[in-house]
Amino acid sequence: MPAVTPGVDADPNRKILLAAPRGYCAGVDRAVDAVEKALEHYGAPVYVRKEIVHNKFVVETLTKRGAIFVSETDEVPEGARVVFSAHGVSPQVHAEAAARQLQTIDATCPLVTKVHKEAVRFANGDYDILLIGHDGHEEVEGTHGEAPDHIQVVNGPHEVDTVEVRDPDKVVWLSQTTLSVDETMETVDLLRKRFPNLQDPPSDDICYATQNRQVAVKKLAPECDVVIVVGSANSSNSVRLVEVALEAGAKAAYRVDKADEVDPEWVKDAQTVGLTSGASVPEILVRDVVTKLGELGIGRVEEVRTATEDIIFSLPKNLRADLKKAGYQPDRPHKVREPKGR
Ligand code: SF4
Repeated sequence: MPAVTPGVDADPNRKILLAAPRGYCAGVDRAVDAVEKALEHYGAPVYVRKEIVHNKFVVETLTKRGAIFVSETDEVPEGARVVFSAHGVSPQVHAEAAARQLQTIDATCPLVTKVHKEAVRFANGDYDILLIGHDGHEEVEGTHGEAPDHIQVVNGPHEVDTVEVRDPDKVVWLSQTTLSVDETMETVDLLRKRFPNLQDPPSDDICYATQNRQVAVKKLAPECDVVIVVGSANSSNSVRLVEVALEAGAKAAYRVDKADEVDPEWVKDAQTVGLTSGASVPEILVRDVVTKLGELGIGRVEEVRTATEDIIFSLPKNLRADLKKAGYQPDRPHKVREPKGR
């Protein structure tokens, strides 16, 4: 747990409640590690399709080491090496990469791959699949691409009334992995009112890391004058943590990318400040916020732990095989290192 370094006027009665678990999940850890290991082993440049994970600091850090982030595979030179991000890609993207003879490293989180497989299985059974998620999010695009003729995206409770299916007795819902659990269940309840035989996914699609971070923030939020969530604006699970904190009773909640975005006005009268971070956020950024809050007069830190996580995913298969051939034993889990000169 990061220690607070109180400023001169810090008050020991004012405290930070630090959520645990917070920050990196197993899928993010693996994806970032895959890019770093690829850079070390094959040398720069290594191309990465989309942001490897939705965090500005991570993307900037990897860019400094030689990763080149692109929007689509047609920006990658023929035959070059490209990493697919943790959010997953559709079969069409795999096909485009193969057509350009790209050497792919697929860092799709195994928990996203699980949802892809569910989509394929239900599409093969000719179900209408209602994919609860945010249109335009990379993960939703990837899952949708597995069975575009069978999947329709439902953005939330407000879209339930417009859903149309071919056979109301052959409908299943799946979801993006990083949604609010409560809002998703609200959407499902409304869908079930329309389609009483709506089938549930075989197991939770909202992943363990998303759920654990929401449970932890719910526990501390009622005690907090303000909750600060560290995470980027395009990080779905970070944005959800702000909403969950407010719904759970925090008087205010804000998202910041990094410590210098913390507005002293937010905490000037606060006795208790909740602090957490999204699943794509390195711990160094949380430590920076703790330091800043210390400077702003918050005298101590207490951790609020609601779960312990020990999940680790192994590196993508082809990268692992190449590293093994070179006699390299990857040490995992891995945490993003600070760039030089920070
Ligand atoms: S948030 Fe969940 S689904 Fe997304 S990368 Fe992390 S573990 Fe995987």
